[in-house]
Amino acid sequence: MVGYDSGMADRAKRLSTNVDGNFFVDSTCINCDTCRQLAPTSFVENGDSSSVFCQPESETERYQAYQALLACPVGSIGAIVPDKGYMRAATDSFPMLLEHNVYYNGFNSEKSYGANSYFIRHPGGNWLIDSPRYMKRLEDFFERMGGISHIFLTHEDDIGDAPRYAKRFGAKRIIHRADADAQPDAEWIVDGLDPVAAAGGFTIVPVPGHTDGSMALLFNHRYLFTGDHMSWDREINGLRLATVYVWDEETLRRSAAKLVEFPFEWVLPGHGDRIHLPSARMKEELRLLLARRAEKVPIP
Ligand code: SF4
Repeated sequence: MVGYDSGMADRAKRLSTNVDGNFFVDSTCINCDTCRQLAPTSFVENGDSSSVFCQPESETERYQAYQALLACPVGSIGAIVPDKGYMRAATDSFPMLLEHNVYYNGFNSEKSYGANSYFIRHPGGNWLIDSPRYMKRLEDFFERMGGISHIFLTHEDDIGDAPRYAKRFGAKRIIHRADADAQPDAEWIVDGLDPVAAAGGFTIVPVPGHTDGSMALLFNHRYLFTGDHMSWDREINGLRLATVYVWDEETLRRSAAKLVEFPFEWVLPGHGDRIHLPSARMKEELRLLLARRAEKVPIP
């Protein structure tokens, strides 16, 4: 048994799909994809779970494998002989600066099925997009950055520990009315389907489809936080819409079509890979996605 504050991976539950070696995934894996995003040269999807298909060897691979171990929401990844140096370096890597003032928090939460969450440092007040698990380390980081003024909840599944962070920092939680049952005391409830501009370069774009109340957040016409609405598909090398637990397929496609009018360069999803492309290429990828989707789900 190996224990970290990310949880405990149990060698007795080691999946047979792992290759021999130090790192392994156990049978508690919820197949959230986080490890495959962070350490794609070591972890692969195998049926309903992840497993180690190639033991990390290079410095970069080992660093990434420890990042995956720490970010795993259910502590399903273990290292038989853990390396304290790598563990410390991986811990210190979160929150991970993606660009300018935008961070991926790491430490994904089981309460949001392992969804990614993000943080924007902003002179008008910092924003948290969905929620990581509640940790002193993150609390201290947010404090050092000046606290949290808003917590944007992309949809009802990815609340995580938002209420606790909201209470700690006096932040306003934002959720759509159609998903507000998940957070009925949220301080800002968004109505309808029209985009809502907020001070500081933020635009809230309702994108129903995965859930009735799914929303995306556009920041500075550069970063689009998409929750479970849209992500990058590493297999087809293109954008993809939610494929499972879709509330309404045609509504999902219409919501994606709505995004064509907005310029953005990053797609930062809850589940699935993030992607950074020039704005014109991103628009083209979005058009390609809509064309693929129209073939799959003919427009009535
Ligand atoms: S991060 Fe953990 S729960 Fe998620 S797919 Fe990997 S091993 Fe499974």
